[in-house]
Amino acid sequence: MAKIADIEDRSYWHKTAKSVPLPTQAIIGGRQVDARSGKRFATINPATGETLADIVEGDATDVDDAVTSARRSFDAGHWRNQSPLARKRVLLKLAELLNAEQQQLAAMESLDMGKLVRDAAGNDIPTAINILQWHAEEVDKTYDEVAPLPVGNVGLIRRVPLGVVGAVVPWNFPLNMAIWKCAPALAAGNSVVLKPAEQSPLTALRFAQLALEAGLPEGVLNVVPGFGETAGQALGRHMDVDCLAFTGSTAVGKMFLRYAGDSNLKQVWLECGGKSPVVVFEDCEDLETAADQVVSGILYNQGQVCSAGSRLIVQDSIRARFLDLLTERMAQYRPGDPLDPQSRLGAMVEAKHAANVMRYIEAGCREATLVAGGNAVTVNGRGSFIEPTIFSDVRPDAVIAREEIFGPVLAVLGFADEAEAIALANDSVYGLGASVWTDNLSRAHRVSEQIVAGVVGVNVVDPVNPAIPFGGFRQSGSGRDLSRHAAEKYTALKTTWIRFKD
Ligand code: NAD
Repeated sequence: MAKIADIEDRSYWHKTAKSVPLPTQAIIGGRQVDARSGKRFATINPATGETLADIVEGDATDVDDAVTSARRSFDAGHWRNQSPLARKRVLLKLAELLNAEQQQLAAMESLDMGKLVRDAAGNDIPTAINILQWHAEEVDKTYDEVAPLPVGNVGLIRRVPLGVVGAVVPWNFPLNMAIWKCAPALAAGNSVVLKPAEQSPLTALRFAQLALEAGLPEGVLNVVPGFGETAGQALGRHMDVDCLAFTGSTAVGKMFLRYAGDSNLKQVWLECGGKSPVVVFEDCEDLETAADQVVSGILYNQGQVCSAGSRLIVQDSIRARFLDLLTERMAQYRPGDPLDPQSRLGAMVEAKHAANVMRYIEAGCREATLVAGGNAVTVNGRGSFIEPTIFSDVRPDAVIAREEIFGPVLAVLGFADEAEAIALANDSVYGLGASVWTDNLSRAHRVSEQIVAGVVGVNVVDPVNPAIPFGGFRQSGSGRDLSRHAAEKYTALKTTWIRFKD
């Protein structure tokens, strides 16, 4: 384990990033394999534009191999029939192995998608491990139910694993998204086929390697890297996948519903996009803290966060003052080398996505007032970076108020009274997260009750904790990740009715 002093040193991270072995092969049936087609694709470091590694490009054939191996392991019962205690021990061992490699995983995450290494090492990786431990610990503490039947009968209502779970995840929190899906699915006894995002496959592959080392039986966790339209679609349409858990854009989420309808009616759980409102009332006593959290809420991971507070709805009486607080703070967030622990803003995940965000910024310049930022920049002459950007005087029907930008871009809208604030907050096709800032207790309850969102933070922006269900209403999706409720997605209720003999 490195010393804190080392971790704060830029050269430590550059050294770690250079020396960390990058996994490149798919994991199917407990073996590291190439694609049947022999194809590979380049995974690129968006901070430099350099190719990091050539990764196996799985397609429908490889997905089929992975599903076959998952099905075989499930049917054989090598994992699901282990006692809850035994499954817990394997998953906790996996957490231990991940823990021992925290720095390497953080460096991989930073290289692969431009994330700040300080965020990866200080937050993302420890959070992912904590979530894995949380689900592991839950396995041998969960009871089933007995139904209230007439005397002479017993009704056992149990939660049983579904079988083969497909998981398709995005690039913004690569290890977290893999663990948010795999940990509860595996804990429940399922076998899994995971397809990581093509932009960031590295830590998911390492996760599966370490799972084997921890004692997860072969075929229980398979990882097929590849593209969405090929490998992702093949998993969505596979006739032998029982459940598909997806995190990603709303547009692709809708495709997974169609894939299920066109194939075997597999269960589909969606964690999709968001346009989360942050509502700041004039009775918020600590505007400084509110401003700190609004800024980190929109700039964490360069704004590439599904639940980022991207719509700031602030009471007119304090709007000018609050905007000053925001611009002061945002000035501290200059884009920098993601591997430098002093940097405050990393790279955008890829040049294509940065160009898309810039198109939204151009739209914003036409329809609102640019208060800060607005430029694409390079660091040391390379990479895809975007300055922290604020637009004020945003109308509710403006494109930048309605669409998910997924970048460091904050749209600021004003309001006169509580009713208008609630109406603006709910004026969205999404309903993922929300935040309300007030020191009036009744208002906090009233407003948070009326806002349509899966998680409403009062005097906190975007709280995430393994004990709190995460997911949304409306086109933000269905089902919940994290907490005990995650297990509901990966299990089915099975009843055994037993009639006694006299
Ligand atoms: P995306 O939808 O483009 O891709 C997500 C995954 O789906 C990737 O693995 C991709 O390869 C796959 N995919 C893409 N096209 C596909 C297709 N036609 N068929 C099958 N699979 C396909 O999303 P992204 O750009 O990787 O991630 C950003 C999006 O993810 C944002 O909209 C964000 O809000 C959302 N997200 C949501 C949550 C949440 O928990 N609600 C968390 C993180 C990200």
